[in-house]
Amino acid sequence: MDPLQPLLNKTLIVVAHPDDEVIAFGALMQRMRDAVVVYATDGAPRDDYFWKDYGSREAYAQVRREEAQRALNVVGARPVFLADLVPGGLVDQELFRSLPKALQGLGKVMADERPDAALTLAYEGGHPDHDSACFLASSCAQSLALPVWESPLYYRDKNGAGVAQKFIVPTGREIVTQVEGEALAKKIEMFHTYVSQKLVLDGFRPELEQFRTMPQYDFTKRPAPWKLNYEIWQWKMRGEEVAAAFADVLAATPRAGKPELATLGRQGRSGEAS
Ligand SMILES: [Zn+2]
Repeated sequence: MDPLQPLLNKTLIVVAHPDDEVIAFGALMQRMRDAVVVYATDGAPRDDYFWKDYGSREAYAQVRREEAQRALNVVGARPVFLADLVPGGLVDQELFRSLPKALQGLGKVMADERPDAALTLAYEGGHPDHDSACFLASSCAQSLALPVWESPLYYRDKNGAGVAQKFIVPTGREIVTQVEGEALAKKIEMFHTYVSQKLVLDGFRPELEQFRTMPQYDFTKRPAPWKLNYEIWQWKMRGEEVAAAFADVLAATPRAGKPELATLGRQGRSGEAS
């Protein structure tokens, strides 16, 4: 049997930003019977460095949304913009500050969509929103007793070197796939849809994808003891702060990580999850 079979029916893909899904799963998505991509932020940070060429943060968010829609059209996938579904939206770089409302919104999407599996980004310290997407998908999937898988995007190793598309700590269960032919052509077409992100996408290898079932992360701790990628970028948040936000949610959510999970998962699937 294809080891990726659990992801080939209806899969809810949870990412942080428009373009994450192409880099991590642009080929695998094409093999899914029904791929639904949840974008957990609006893709537009508050810092005008990112949006000044577009006139406003909102205009930049709209451009990224339209690019996402076009990219998913290439492969017949469907977007869900989580920022539209929660009061006050979800701003790029700040997802870890809005976890309770994001969790509630994602829980509702999962309960409505009823996927067979969830697929998200690894906990790797590349971008606080990627780690938050991982946390949100893991929490929601666990509460619904859904299998959850992950793929790596980027991080820094202990020497500060950038690493792309490799898991920070291999578990031995990784499934590496080579992308070629028509699947690669469609994936590259998706890449090119993201005109506003071109320079970022150029750093990745579209011919490679890898997946594994998500290990049991301790989200109350930073993903690595050394300097994380966004700390090297000198962003405002540190790994401890992001992990503390995850710990707060776990402490306030009795079902998370508790033995009665399976029972609560069944309740969730009958429509009580939120
Ligand atoms: Zn991203």
